[in-house]
Amino acid sequence: MSATIIDGKAYAEGLRSRIAGAVGTLAGQGVTPGLAVVIVGEDPASQLYVKNKARQTVEVGMRSFEHKLPATTSETGLLDLVARLNADPAVDGILVQLPLPKQIDAQKVIEAIDPSKDVDGFHPINAGRLMTGVPGLVSCTPLGCLLLAQSVRRDLAGLNAVVLGRSNIVGKPMAQLLIAQSCTVTVAHSKTRDLPQVCRNADLLVAAVGRPEMVRGDWIKPGAIVIDVGINRVPNPAAGEAKTRVVGDIAYAEAAPVASAITPVPGGVGPMTIACLLRNTLEAACLRRGLPMPA
Ligand code: NDP
Repeated sequence: MSATIIDGKAYAEGLRSRIAGAVGTLAGQGVTPGLAVVIVGEDPASQLYVKNKARQTVEVGMRSFEHKLPATTSETGLLDLVARLNADPAVDGILVQLPLPKQIDAQKVIEAIDPSKDVDGFHPINAGRLMTGVPGLVSCTPLGCLLLAQSVRRDLAGLNAVVLGRSNIVGKPMAQLLIAQSCTVTVAHSKTRDLPQVCRNADLLVAAVGRPEMVRGDWIKPGAIVIDVGINRVPNPAAGEAKTRVVGDIAYAEAAPVASAITPVPGGVGPMTIACLLRNTLEAACLRRGLPMPA
């Protein structure tokens, strides 16, 4: 039996179309959610990501405000812009694209964002809300992973979940989301002993380590749901010298025959991140005005 391939691209399209419907409803009430994206420097991958965010924001009917700052921008300069965006009533969501140049303390910038506009969910207030079960804005990538896992199994309660990776942006919030779904959660990292054995216990495995195809097929429990967050660029000599391809943290070809459901890379978790960002912007726009989320 081969695994269900979880189509993140299709799920994200459906989510964006539901968001567009909700934005239409809000427009009838005179509200147009706005997302401000700030990018510092010329990193081509970040530029492309920001361009895609802006395009998809406009496509769902929201307003997009792009702020492109030079790589030499000072920390004070960026904090001043964040303060202006915090005060701007047309802006419901603020995202500062990471990484930032080394003269800027990213944590300081994250903490300067108004938590009610923190659509990345990185502010300690929102991280704390997630941990304590209080409604707040949840980090986009883990939220996308949860939605994909629930797309194949609505009720995750009681599952043994293993999260590989403990970063603040993926691993930790993922673990918190799964605890909230009543999973029994193990968080593994670079110091974990006998990682293959830990993974073999997982009914639900989420890999977010950034190591190409590290998780082998014989690490997967038969029938497990496998969510691969990793985005790793590796050489692709078959396509020509200097060509690369993207692989996940899971050895997909080995894992797919063992798992019950698996996300591909690309086309799994990746497309969900921007869709969840738009969802968070919609939620922020509603919460800030005391409106219910349109169905
Ligand atoms: P980080 O580098 O911040 O964290 C990686 C985590 O993996 C750390 O906790 C680290 O452990 C752990 N780790 C590293 N090597 C090993 C190992 N050999 N064995 C066990 N654990 C290990 O990465 P991120 O969380 O930011 O991202 C993880 C991956 O997800 C990356 O490939 C990234 O590109 C991708 N990503 C994808 C997104 C998407 O939209 N699809 C969004 C964000 C990230 P320790 O803490 O001990 O160092």
